[in-house]
Amino acid sequence: MSESFDVIVLGAGPAGEVVAGRLADANLEVAIVESRLVGGECTFWACMPSKALLRPAEAVAEARRIPGAREAVTGPLDVAAVLARRDDVIHDEDDASMVPWLEDKGITLVRDRARFTGPRTVQAGSRTLEARRAIVVATGSRAAVPPIPGLREARPWTNIEATTAKHVPDRLLILGGGAVGCEMAQAYASFGAQVSLVEGSHRLLAKEEEFASDDVRAGLEEAGVGIFCGGKVQEARRPEPGGPVTLVLEDGTELEGDELLCATGRVPNTDELDVAAAGVELDARGFLPVDDELRVAGGDGLLAVGDVTGRVLLTHMGKHQGRQAADVILGKPAGLRAAGNDAGSPRVIFTDPQVAAVGLTLQAAQEANLRVRAVDVGTQANAGGSFYGNGARGTARLVVDEDRGVVVGATFTGPDVQDSLHAATIAVVAQVPLGLLWHAVPSFPTRSEWWLKLLEAYGL
Ligand SMILES: Cc1cc2nc3c(=O)[nH]c(=O)nc-3n(C[C@H](O)[C@H](O)[C@H](O)COP(=O)(O)OP(=O)(O)OC[C@H]3O[C@@H](n4cnc5c(N)ncnc54)[C@H](O)[C@@H]3O)c2cc1C
Repeated sequence: MSESFDVIVLGAGPAGEVVAGRLADANLEVAIVESRLVGGECTFWACMPSKALLRPAEAVAEARRIPGAREAVTGPLDVAAVLARRDDVIHDEDDASMVPWLEDKGITLVRDRARFTGPRTVQAGSRTLEARRAIVVATGSRAAVPPIPGLREARPWTNIEATTAKHVPDRLLILGGGAVGCEMAQAYASFGAQVSLVEGSHRLLAKEEEFASDDVRAGLEEAGVGIFCGGKVQEARRPEPGGPVTLVLEDGTELEGDELLCATGRVPNTDELDVAAAGVELDARGFLPVDDELRVAGGDGLLAVGDVTGRVLLTHMGKHQGRQAADVILGKPAGLRAAGNDAGSPRVIFTDPQVAAVGLTLQAAQEANLRVRAVDVGTQANAGGSFYGNGARGTARLVVDEDRGVVVGATFTGPDVQDSLHAATIAVVAQVPLGLLWHAVPSFPTRSEWWLKLLEAYGL
């Protein structure tokens, strides 16, 4: 016999939880199906543990830059304590503390793997669930393992092993110089591992501003990371299980490590969903494409949110989509529920220096045929910056649309720049005219005075 709900949400990661919670708050009867842990990849194997691994070294580096505090740092990182705190942050991979939140909202949790059996029907283990109003797919993504000869057989780490490891390998090879590869290189180098990072394109963080790539590369190299950009991997070898692993690059270079982390992007968790039974199709990469209301084309009451849509693979954007999808299902006015422009997505990479960016890079804006001009100042080049310690590298850039007189992109590099990003997000998303931004006066002595310097550099 089937069970009927107003809405069924597939996947209890951050995006699925938000959509389920918002609908339950509106008194809809909601079920959420989860095959692993409530909280999803973000809570246990991605955002939260990675930041727990990075923060201690960042705090120590910050103290070391400041005379007076520097003298109090008398020893190396206590790696065992860092790993223990990481375990606290991820609740020892136990979701018991997350479940009461669902129960309090009256959401039915079904612990099983879901697959479609019809347009509004899913099978989860022995249970058949029917949706009266909608099904929302929020099944997320997992690490991609590219088809490099020998790679799969070498049993590489993915983000799961890298974020939950109980010991630090002496030598870690990392394949991929995007956000995950760079953050894990930073963390493991701070734990004393000898890290080598291989990136196929000519620079790290290839989608960010070039100066951000340069700053992060310099920071990683200072931390002792060996960086091989433009190095295409031809083969991976691990002859003995548990023994050393080797990456062979196109030019014949061989790199040996004790573990190999594969950080080369994500694939969607759609292969076992059988979406054809719901009458819809995946795109060529296996994602579930959605329109601006998060509806899946051709679906009957079918929406998707989060990584599985392939739009912006970040927790905050998945949660934002979750709120929008709930509002679409609740029939809220269109003005409030439009999916917005992905180009406005903020992003932070928690390396040392950090990269905090929103909107378009200069290159992306030019490729979009906008008439833009970029202005740059140092993030440390003001009175506020002096308190973060001399010698901390960093740049602030605004990309200004000259025709409209608004900021279409901003990138900040430097220590502790993450919380400065939201002002730029507001400027970009709200399209605040430069003449008005000029009157948003930053406090003295804060590093936010870089806004004044940027606007002056632009000519105000
Ligand atoms: C190392 C790393 C660090 C990251 N750091 C950040 C960061 O600092 N900030 C940030 O914004 N983003 C970060 N991200 C990205 C972020 O983790 C994802 O964007 C986010 O987890 C996506 O949320 P989601 O709800 O769409 O999917 P997920 O978190 O992947 O959750 C999907 C859930 O669906 C479940 N599921 C899958 N298939 C089924 C099925 N058939 N039936 C039932 N359940 C199913 C899964 O078990 C999972 O729990 C990071 C990613 C990685 C890998």
